[in-house]
Parts: sequence; structure tokens; C-alpha cells
Amino acid sequence: MSHNPIRPWRDIERRKSRQIMVGRVPVGGDAPISVQTMTNTLTTDVKATVEQILRSAEAGADIVRVSTPDEDSTRALREIVRESPVPIVADIHFHYRRAIEAAQAGAACLRINPGNIGDARRVAEVVKAAKDHGCSIRIGVNAGSLEKQLLEKYGEPCPDAMVESGLDHIKLLQDNDFHEFKISCKASDVFLSSAAYQQLAAATDAPIHLGITEAGGLVSGTVKSAIGLGNLLWFGIGDTIRVSLSADPVEEVKVGYEILKSLGLRTRGVQIISCPSCARQGFDVIKTVEALEKRLEHIKTPMSLSIIGCVVNGPGEALMTDIGFTGGGAGNGMIYIAGKQSHRMGNDQMIDHIVELVEQKAAELAAAEAQAAAE
Ligand code: SF4
Repeated sequence: MSHNPIRPWRDIERRKSRQIMVGRVPVGGDAPISVQTMTNTLTTDVKATVEQILRSAEAGADIVRVSTPDEDSTRALREIVRESPVPIVADIHFHYRRAIEAAQAGAACLRINPGNIGDARRVAEVVKAAKDHGCSIRIGVNAGSLEKQLLEKYGEPCPDAMVESGLDHIKLLQDNDFHEFKISCKASDVFLSSAAYQQLAAATDAPIHLGITEAGGLVSGTVKSAIGLGNLLWFGIGDTIRVSLSADPVEEVKVGYEILKSLGLRTRGVQIISCPSCARQGFDVIKTVEALEKRLEHIKTPMSLSIIGCVVNGPGEALMTDIGFTGGGAGNGMIYIAGKQSHRMGNDQMIDHIVELVEQKAAELAAAEAQAAAE
């Protein structure tokens, strides 16, 4: 909720997709683009898995995926689902029985490729279990595990092969009169992913789950995901996203939000605009931003905060943010509220003071929202 005026040149027109439900979270249509992550604990370790889900949900995850490779895992899933505040997607490969067990255990969605679980009778059984238990399905095409006949036909993983695989899986579900599905076609190569997703988006109205698979570690994977997912989202493609990082799932959630926030597609928490700092800085910008990022993690209300080292860019950035601080001389700087100079503040008290201002503003906005909802 920034005081910035709406600017038409920054609006993204989203592709019109059908809407499905993943538990109580709508995906597709005009629903906000949801952010997902996946646990990396042993699913049979219910305590550790639930703890990771709770941390991910606290960071903003709308949906969490959990691997269910064996019967012990689908058994554990029942308890995990019961304790999770967000819908759980069960990740299944090849085993149709695991899919049925996961649906019975309360999974909100099954990530499964119907073409890889056996004959038509098995597909029908999984679809029946999904229907009986109100589960949606995500078809998850992956360039690394394309069907043999498609690799023979196309010679290598390519957009045409990935889209054909996706449409084949879609047909299997539609033949069983099942329409509550979304689809992804991931690759670790951004060009391949992007081309496949664009073709897929033109070929179906199913909601699209975006991801660049095996993107890498925190820094490299973030950059790769921001480029790969960013360009698709910018062109309106994508209804739910998962950033895949070799890192804590909470980091995946944070990066997912940052990508969506950069494109104005979601808002959550405090967006800090800060300068890289240089010899002109009136205070230690880097340490201040690090401290503020940690101390403002609990704020969920969307707002913007500019932390700028000096007057070269400080007043200009403050004009476009809800709260601003610009370094000055003699150990203090200027606090801006809604773009206007408000008061001076000493560098030594500035972090505590800004945290207080942000908390105060968050409480005001929450109260205003509650009042508007009551009217
Ligand atoms: S705003 Fe000032 S301190 Fe920050 S990088 Fe620019 S010139 Fe340096």
C-alpha cells in the first residue's frame, strides 16, 4: 500500500486461465499468483517436516509440496496435513498407489504425471481418488524426464517435446472428465523453459505453475529464477510459482516474493529501497539495511521504505516510498513520511526509530483495513 500513483506503463496483463483450487487457495483466473516451496526433510520425520512447513508459511508460502516416495511417507502425510496451516501438494513419481494414498491422507493436490503411472485403469483409479477427496492435480513435465518416445521423435528435450508431453497428460485427465489440474514444464535451461512455457500457455487455458528446475544455490539460483520466471511473469504467464534453490525452503519463498514484488504482481511486507553506499554516505547503509531486514521480517503489511546514504538520491527515493531515511552530516539524517520531510534523527537511534515507525504504520493500515471490511 504505497502512496505511489498507479502508472499504466507498469501494468502487466495476465494471461486468462481457468481457476482451480488447491485446497482453499485459488490458482489461476484472477487469483493472486501464489508462492510455493517444497520441504527437504524426510517426510517420515513429521516433526521436522511440519516445523519447516510452519516456517515457510510464516515467510508467506501459500502452498507447500512434500515428497511422498513410499507408503511410510503417505502415512506420515496424514498428520502433516492435519498440522499444516497451508494446503499440501503430494509429490509423486510413477507409483499410482502413492497417489491414491496421498489423496486419502488429505493432500490438496497431487503432483503426478498421469502418463507415467501405468495403464488407463490406473489413471482412472487415481483420478477417482482425486475426485473423491477434492484433490487437484499438477501435471509436472520436466525436460530431464521426458517420455522415451518423445525423445526418440524429437531427438532431444525441446519445447515441442515438452508441450506435446504436457498435452498428452492433459488428455488423459480430460478423458477421465477431470479438469481440476494445473501444469508446469520445467527445465534447468532458461531458454528452453521460457520457450516451452510460452508454447504451453498458448496451447491450454489450464493454470500454469512456473519454475526453473535445479536452478542452483541461493545467489546463482535466485538470478537464474529471476531471469527465467521474471520474463514469463512480465508477459503475463504464470499463476503460481516455485523458485527451486539448493537452500532453505524459506529462502525460496522470500525469493519468490521478491520476484513478484519487483513486477508489482504481489505485495507483502516491507520493500526496502536502498543505495549501494559510497564515500558520500552519512551512515553505514549496508549494516543498517541488514539490521532492518531482520528486524522487519515480522511485518506482513505491504509498505515501502527507502534507506539512502546521502542527499544525492535520498529525497528523490523518499518521494516514492512510504517511509524514508536519508543520511546527512553530523551524525544524523532526515526522516521522510509519505515523501515529505518529517524530522531529523540521530544515526545511533535511527534503526529503533524506523522499526517503530514501520510497526506504527502497519498497525494503522491493519486497523483501516479491518474497519473497511466491517463497513
Ligand atoms: S545515494 Fe549517496 S551514499 Fe548512496 S550511493 Fe549514491 S551518492 Fe553514495
